[in-house]
Amino acid sequence: MRRISILGSTGSIGRSTLGVVDAFPEELRVVGLSAGANIDLLAEQIERYRPELVSVRTAKNAAALRGRIKGVEIVHGADGASAVASLGSADAVIAAIVGAAGIPPVYAALRAGKRVGIANKEVLVAAGDVMTRAAREFGGEILPVDSEHNAVHQALRCGTHEEVQRIILTASGGPFLKRDLTTFSDITIEAALNHPTWKMGNKISIDSATMMNKGLEVIEAHHLFSMPADRIDILIHPQSIVHSMVEYVDGSIVAQLSTTDMKFPIQYALLYPDRVVAPFARLDLASIRNLEFLPVDTKRFPAVNLAYDACREGGSMPAVLNAANEIAVERFLAGELPFVRIVEIVSRVLERHAGNNQPIRTVEDALEWDRWARNEARGIDVAGGR
Ligand code: NDP
Repeated sequence: MRRISILGSTGSIGRSTLGVVDAFPEELRVVGLSAGANIDLLAEQIERYRPELVSVRTAKNAAALRGRIKGVEIVHGADGASAVASLGSADAVIAAIVGAAGIPPVYAALRAGKRVGIANKEVLVAAGDVMTRAAREFGGEILPVDSEHNAVHQALRCGTHEEVQRIILTASGGPFLKRDLTTFSDITIEAALNHPTWKMGNKISIDSATMMNKGLEVIEAHHLFSMPADRIDILIHPQSIVHSMVEYVDGSIVAQLSTTDMKFPIQYALLYPDRVVAPFARLDLASIRNLEFLPVDTKRFPAVNLAYDACREGGSMPAVLNAANEIAVERFLAGELPFVRIVEIVSRVLERHAGNNQPIRTVEDALEWDRWARNEARGIDVAGGR
């Protein structure tokens, strides 16, 4: 029996994680839950899974939840999420908060020596060196839940680090892979949220539409697999069946395939190194028939090169890229700016940071640059001025 805490239990990955718990009642038990503001769903989850500790984002939400739930300790804020992440009885944590808000709890989990199944890629983008060092120093373990990195993790079991030539991350290309470029200025929020192959939370759906998501994944892969950016390639694969690949020095390419269901990588991260009979729908390749692969058009998706550059430069650049992107996406979703301005805002904040790149040695360093970049991104007006 493995006991788990889930950070972001009310979100898309959080709910899929509970689906995995339901599928493996003998193997998995929930001991901690953390969410933001959706206390209706959280209350249902508490009734059903009876965790020891629960955290919500604000004191107000915690008070409201206490009024509805008895016999379960309820805490709040970043400290509350960190308490859930480092809960003594938890063997593993699924990190599925969205954005840099996940930095403190993921760090707390690693310092407590937990296995962290990480979906919350922004944590590794903004503070990857700090997290991988904490895992090494305190006996924690980071296992990727992001489907691409999970595929790479599986494919890497076929050879040694020295035998790897390159990592190939696949990308669906999102909803605008084929859209006429001259119509990009008309893209609506609804169209940008409408991902062709995955059902996900809003932020990652917009990141997939700009392909910033794949850029963030390059940085994530760099940290997870100790691989320089120039040995991490991206290949468009519209069907999202091949989740990623590893090319070895002898020319062999090893790929991992499954249906587009996040329960596969979540179960892998929770049960690794075991493979357990899973009840989820299997892939029927004969009915899919065609698997396509295409190069990335970086004119259409300029976010990809911004992320590669930030990854090569390292230091605070990736944290700045991530925070600026979080704010630009938030502003797009609030109807404050057109789609095409998202990446432009990120680019302008990175330009302002150029020449002032600093090492990220601690969580505080990462959070400080995160705050700086958020302020900058908030200050840029939609017309393109300050
Ligand atoms: P969602 O928006 O669906 O869920 C986010 C979760 O985080 C919710 O439970 C939300 O709570 C909680 N949350 C948000 N902000 C805070 C905060 N400040 N403090 C505490 N909790 C907070 O996102 P997804 O599940 O789609 O994505 C989660 C992460 O996983 C992201 O980093 C994403 O990039 C990554 N990922 C997602 C995939 C997917 O298929 N969805 C695939 C691969 C990676 P509430 O709703 O209660 O406010």
